[in-house]
Amino acid sequence: MICPECEEEFPDTISTCWDCNVRLVPSLAEPEFPELAVVCTILNETTAHIIKGFLENESIPCQLENISFHAGPAPVADLMKVRLWSKKEDVLRARKLLQEREDVQICSSCETEVGFQDEFCGHCGEKLS
Ligand SMILES: [Zn+2]
Ligand SMILES: [Zn+2]
Repeated sequence: MICPECEEEFPDTISTCWDCNVRLVPSLAEPEFPELAVVCTILNETTAHIIKGFLENESIPCQLENISFHAGPAPVADLMKVRLWSKKEDVLRARKLLQEREDVQICSSCETEVGFQDEFCGHCGEKLS
């Protein structure tokens, strides 16, 4: 993360520049608010990080948003959900790259990760190809 004022770099866990008191941005080269869109929803945080690394290797910057349901004192594994965002213009390419992967299957209807052997989406009932 970088401060748009003083261009100081900070670790990802910091969101505000201590000196300038402004919000940090991921990169100065990017427009301040690029149009983002959801590439897919992933049900496992480990897979989400693998996919993020994979797409970033293909020069598609992406962000993970944890939308897990935190009702109890401990996260419930079944309700673990991570949304993967990328720039709008990269979404189609990102989905295509994911389709080519042999260890990940994304439902084409609801864009949720499903088991690679599944024939039907467990979330929306779509028949998977
Ligand atoms: Zn600063
Ligand atoms: Zn689905």
